[in-house]
Amino acid sequence: MTIKRSALNDHEHFRLLAETSSDVIARIDADFCFTYLSPSAENMFKRSIADTIGQSALAFIHPDDTPIVTAATARILRGETDSSTVTTRVIRGDGTLLWVETASRQIGAYEPGKPGDRVLVMRDVTERKALEERLTELAMKDGLTGLANRRAFDEALAREWSRAASEGSHLSLLLLDLDHFKLFNDSYGHQVGDDCLRAVASALRPVARNPDDLVARYGGEEIAIILARGDSNDAATAAAKACEFVEALAIPHKASSVPAGVVTVSIGVATAVARNGGREDVPSALLAAADRALYQAKGAGRNCYEATLVIGARA
Ligand code: GH3
Ligand code: MG
Ligand code: MG
Repeated sequence: MTIKRSALNDHEHFRLLAETSSDVIARIDADFCFTYLSPSAENMFKRSIADTIGQSALAFIHPDDTPIVTAATARILRGETDSSTVTTRVIRGDGTLLWVETASRQIGAYEPGKPGDRVLVMRDVTERKALEERLTELAMKDGLTGLANRRAFDEALAREWSRAASEGSHLSLLLLDLDHFKLFNDSYGHQVGDDCLRAVASALRPVARNPDDLVARYGGEEIAIILARGDSNDAATAAAKACEFVEALAIPHKASSVPAGVVTVSIGVATAVARNGGREDVPSALLAAADRALYQAKGAGRNCYEATLVIGARA
């Protein structure tokens, strides 16, 4: 059997590959300026190839993402590698943004400290990025209430405390627990219980004062609210509002011992202050203190809050 030789030589093969690929194949010089762009660049970047040749690739990268490219280039300059893959947003000719994964490789002889010509293979990963963002969002959300879940809460509490410790500021935590919720389920059924939890979650959202505050489902019928930089006055105001908002829903709860006869919450409030010589490990101390305060609020008749203070170490 004879193998039929292709009519194309190697050079023509590569040219065909570059010109028909949906990925963009490009070449840049040591100053990041484009010296070659394959035809699909026109569609991907909504820019004419003739106008783009000679321009710096960096000019098309979203300013927030340039540090990613700078770091990758620094590794190449230090001689640690001759290739890199980065994912950045690219500004297209029509002003829209595209997430692009760019694999770059040095061509020709490699001399550390001298970034020579490089070949780039660029791929539109916008859909993949959107999916990743959606998955991250789902992984941080509680399915029943749509609030942040326990994982998001744990991360936010650690993050906010580290900020408070470095700024020498405050951090407050509200731990809310529905009153006699077992009796509520027994009276109206688990399904109505779920609806009630959803309604309470929605009513509590406005207790967050800014994007750094977080309302999260902490456990079964427990909701936790982080008040970033919140001092004890902020926390008392937020707790009073939370009790009021839930009571105002006026969801009947005939078996409750609370005189209003509607669904209510009890709240344990804990505020941490960052001071020199204070306690370490504030997130767990804050949770324990809020839990103790919650227990006191239950003992005090429910539909109320109790507050306490934790002294944390300043970073
Ligand atoms: P207390 O006022 O002392 O908090 O009484 P309680 O009945 O609320 O406390 P307990 O911890 O005994 O009961 C909590 C109940 O919350 C039991 C459980 O069935 C219910 N619960 C927890 N998670 C859910 C949920 O996702 N949906 C529903 N419908 N009920 C839940
Ligand atoms: Mg409970
Ligand atoms: Mg309860």
